[in-house]
Amino acid sequence: MNDPSTIALERCPHCGSDAKVQRHAAYRFVCRACGKPRIPMDARLATTDDPTKQALAGAYRQRVAKFAWQVGGIGATLVAIALAALGVGASVLFDFGAFGNTTIFAMLVVPIIVAVTAFVAGNKANQRSGKLLQEAWRLGANRVFANSGGRISAEVLSRGMGINLDEATELLAEAEVSQFLGSAQFQNAPGAAAHGRLRIDAAPTESPEQAAERELRETLGNAPTEQFASVKRYDD
Ligand SMILES: [Zn+2]
Repeated sequence: MNDPSTIALERCPHCGSDAKVQRHAAYRFVCRACGKPRIPMDARLATTDDPTKQALAGAYRQRVAKFAWQVGGIGATLVAIALAALGVGASVLFDFGAFGNTTIFAMLVVPIIVAVTAFVAGNKANQRSGKLLQEAWRLGANRVFANSGGRISAEVLSRGMGINLDEATELLAEAEVSQFLGSAQFQNAPGAAAHGRLRIDAAPTESPEQAAERELRETLGNAPTEQFASVKRYDD
């Protein structure tokens, strides 16, 4: 039931192929054709929009960057080990003394710093990848949630997105929370207008800035342009 092959899978948003998806340890699901992360959404419920696609592509890029940093880090570590071995050997052979040993130590510092920096950067890229992936799934769940008019069970979501019930329950909680907070993605989602409106009015979490901005938007939307222009002139 939760097998992604049973849903009306959209085409891959990255490569456009009609290839299926497969489970992936880091990306949850990847395209069988291009290997990039995908959300196996049932096209009858929702498709991957551009922000979701961008988040997925970003998750992919950051993970590629992670591997590149790790390769660099391993390279620098090997250089450090080789230099250390050479230095110890040379020191023993030629009896470098304090100055020679200090010099060898100083030479070792550079590759060690490079290695540490690379591993830290790789770790950060990996974290960014995870966050982008999470964001993509949150956006995807919000779209499914919005397109269903806010009436969707974890069971339907799990079938529609080809995920298991636990994953669907978690996503639904996130979608409901972001909807409750009046997330822009939700309000802009097609078919969500009525709900979004309701939520704006009911949302107790609107900050003073957001309230002011909304009022300004509403005022700008209602006020004739001429009237505004004249107000502006007299202010000057
Ligand atoms: Zn693909």
